[in-house]
Amino acid sequence: MITLSSVKKSYKSAEGEVTALKGVDLSIERGEIYGIIGLSGAGKSTLIRCINMLERPTEGKVIVDGKDLTALSEADLRKERKGIGMIFQHFNLLSSATVYDNVAFPLRLANADDETIRKKVEPLLALVGLADKAQQYPAQLSGGQKQRVGIARALAAGPKVLLSDEATSALDPQTTKSILQLIADINKKLGLTVVIITHEMQVIKDVCDKVAVIADGVIAEKGSVVDIFTKPQNPITREFVSTLLSNDLPINYREKELLQEPVEGGELLLRLTFLGERADDPVIADVIRRFPIEVSILYGTLDQIQSLPYGRMIVGVKGEQAEIDRALAYLDTRDLKKEVLGYVR
Ligand code: ADP
Repeated sequence: MITLSSVKKSYKSAEGEVTALKGVDLSIERGEIYGIIGLSGAGKSTLIRCINMLERPTEGKVIVDGKDLTALSEADLRKERKGIGMIFQHFNLLSSATVYDNVAFPLRLANADDETIRKKVEPLLALVGLADKAQQYPAQLSGGQKQRVGIARALAAGPKVLLSDEATSALDPQTTKSILQLIADINKKLGLTVVIITHEMQVIKDVCDKVAVIADGVIAEKGSVVDIFTKPQNPITREFVSTLLSNDLPINYREKELLQEPVEGGELLLRLTFLGERADDPVIADVIRRFPIEVSILYGTLDQIQSLPYGRMIVGVKGEQAEIDRALAYLDTRDLKKEVLGYVR
């Protein structure tokens, strides 16, 4: 549905040239929710704005639904842009217009008549849960409701693609969840392709099918959300994933020094990750039965990624080193991921 090939973008400024994108290749399938995550300044906004040509790439091609947008005239581009809706961090609503008129705005621009507009706007307001707010003004709405107006407006022209530029960054966690749920519903109901940029791994985990990690104008890593969460390769990806895994250790362990080598009478700390239906496999009970070692669960959580159960556990292991080594080798034969965090005294 969307293909970016070798997209580069430089900005000329007073201090010289800034290259925000240094050659980005990305392929997004129809109906997918694709997340792009990166730190501030990584090039996320530039990238998403290149998808609808709010920024024109300096080099490379942007193909949306079979059309090379970089090759189109301004007039043809305006037509193609109707197929690409966008929502923003600060909603960008018209403060002097009602909710209804904000959503109707793109249709009025296209010279639609009142009846056509009503037939489009009313179901859209129902879809985003604002049917009873049609005559209110943005100032009377909460942040989440404002973003719902933004979403309805983005959908008014019947787009095939929805771009979300940090659309939940100004919202509290609870409202963020409800907006992401709405985006997921729309993706399913309307078969829309969605591209989300964010700096929050939680957003990626909650709603995306695939993710690309962008750093310093290049894609550092991309893949399915499940793969990226369970097997991150790039250090930057690991850092993002760890933002969701932090504070795993009980407080009295956080202050202890993690040693790479076993210490006499010490304890081995392991992180175990289970994905899929094995997430609640009684593997710990099994290990204790097989080996004369002591295992204590220091942290455990069961979560979901892409509707797959995803369990994480940190265990402390004590015992004879030879037995611990045998238990570790045994864990390698099981369907789980094992990471040795280190040894503590
Ligand atoms: P992000 O969205 O990840 O924070 P941006 O795409 O906004 O990153 O910015 C990437 C880089 O490009 C930054 O160094 C930023 O300062 C620069 N940049 C972005 N927009 C402009 C612009 N209009 N003019 C000059 N430099 C810009």
